[in-house]
Amino acid sequence: VFIALEGGEGGGKSTQAERLARTLRDRGHDVVLTREPGGTDVGTALRRIVLDHATGEVSARTEALIYAADKAEHVDTVVLPALAAGSVVITDRYVDSALAYQGAGRSIDAQELEQVLRWATSDLRPHLTVVLDVDPRTGLSRAGDHDRIEAEPLAFHQRVREHFLALAAEDAQHYLVVPGDEQPDEQAERILAAVEPWLGQ
Ligand code: C5P
Repeated sequence: VFIALEGGEGGGKSTQAERLARTLRDRGHDVVLTREPGGTDVGTALRRIVLDHATGEVSARTEALIYAADKAEHVDTVVLPALAAGSVVITDRYVDSALAYQGAGRSIDAQELEQVLRWATSDLRPHLTVVLDVDPRTGLSRAGDHDRIEAEPLAFHQRVREHFLALAAEDAQHYLVVPGDEQPDEQAERILAAVEPWLGQ
């Protein structure tokens, strides 16, 4: 089973990814918890390249290709082998982040970007994508790690948010939207309930 957690800054996505991994491990599942960008050695180096440059210093196309390369390495060396071994793979961010941040956020052509990402990931799609939805005003004040992305105008973050929601609205079977202002316990319960039917896939 392949599960992705997605969403803007400060929505609690990483916390919920960790909680889900712990719960499933407690139930006896073999779980691989991983993330993008940075789930591999190459990915860690790529993550540093994008995140160490101030926003605008790396061209939008270069940035999109770096994220795509991170995904290719991640899918080939971590995700696919783990799925083949029967593990539950939980990734903190996946293709939708690139569609939202580089596509909607930085205005890269959506169809072209989709093609690049499809190729980079061998068209591997999660069984379930959980979107932790948060109003950027709340999320950014909560995130507070002074990441480069915080320098982006609010409109950028709003485009990102709307894009995640639009992707979820298109495919209710494979998406769950969780309100970011819910209590973490409630979020965790909701996520587990949505994941359960997929276990054993
Ligand atoms: O989720 P995480 O905090 O690890 O993401 C690191 C940073 O990279 C965040 O600021 C996120 O918004 C940004 N990012 C991005 N485009 C992606 C994935 C992440 O700008 N495709």
